[in-house]
Amino acid sequence: MNAAVMERDAPQQAQPRAQKNLIEIKGLRKYFGKGTHPVRAVDDVSFVIRQGETLGLVGESGSGKSTIGRLLTRLVDPTDGQMLYSPDGDKAQDLATLSQSQFRPLRSKVQIIFQDPYASLNPRMRIRDVLGEALDTHGLAKGAARMPRIHELLAQVGLRSEHADRFPHEFSGGQRQRIGIARALAVEPKFIVADEPLSALDVSIQAQVVNLLGELKEKLNLTLLFISHDLDVVEYLCDRVVVLYLGRVMEIAPTHSLYAAPKHPYTRALLAAAPIPDPAQRRVVPLLQGDLPSPANPPSGCVFRTRCPRAEARCASADMQLREVQPGHWHACWRDDL
Ligand code: ADP
Ligand code: MG
Repeated sequence: MNAAVMERDAPQQAQPRAQKNLIEIKGLRKYFGKGTHPVRAVDDVSFVIRQGETLGLVGESGSGKSTIGRLLTRLVDPTDGQMLYSPDGDKAQDLATLSQSQFRPLRSKVQIIFQDPYASLNPRMRIRDVLGEALDTHGLAKGAARMPRIHELLAQVGLRSEHADRFPHEFSGGQRQRIGIARALAVEPKFIVADEPLSALDVSIQAQVVNLLGELKEKLNLTLLFISHDLDVVEYLCDRVVVLYLGRVMEIAPTHSLYAAPKHPYTRALLAAAPIPDPAQRRVVPLLQGDLPSPANPPSGCVFRTRCPRAEARCASADMQLREVQPGHWHACWRDDL
């Protein structure tokens, strides 16, 4: 990411907001496949998403990040657990147990943006129709209100009114991601899952899209789950971070606390593996060795123990639970002397 952009006021330095929970995830599981060894993509995950925050979700490829995003938007159905959704003043609804038809009215409130916007845009549809289709699905901005709303959406994501008449192939990658964001915003969501929204973009464009997301979130009072493997962007954009490994939560902390003093050996390894431009700042901890174990056959006890530089015999039999070691800072390792 562009250093000049990152020096500007980061969103996480804004005044703290009311800290109500928008979504409370409890004991969430998603197993793919049946039989004795299903793929445990998400295995007993619990964390909260607070109203108005940007929560980062990080972890290596295959750790279950996208599956959590897809569960929250009910693109896949959970195996077990709860996802309690409580927008302002309303009583909680469990997104996990709603049928698809019960979930339909909530679909506009809970949106997802994908890595590759091109794959999800119909190449034969003009942008006005892409956005119009989203509006139609939820009966919004009908008749004479239609085109002004489409122009407003385009303006919100930094595109121009005349772009409404163009087709997806006429846009650059960054512009297509802006269209993906406009389509998500069209239905007036409260909560957006952004699943690696920058991965398909040129580095030079990434900062613009990050800033756009940060601005829109403030302006529209959105709550954002930002899934990424780019730890620099997460540090810049997110208020808090959840660290996932092999379908389990290893650490949850406010962003500044996680980056200044990561507690879990996995988080420390992840941060050490990320490129840090200033050599004086480079953290001196071992990098991750080997590959992620199979989520169909995870290690007993602490699932990270097979790659952990600090593993001991007791880690193989431990039932690791998250512990709060500082206010709001949780981790799932029993050592505190790292
Ligand atoms: P991430 O987004 O962190 O890379 P994913 O959530 O995509 O991780 O995947 C977590 C695990 O679940 C991986 O082992 C992946 O192969 C598996 N997985 C994801 N989706 C499916 C599916 N539809 N069927 C079977 N396995 C899946
Ligand atoms: Mg993914």
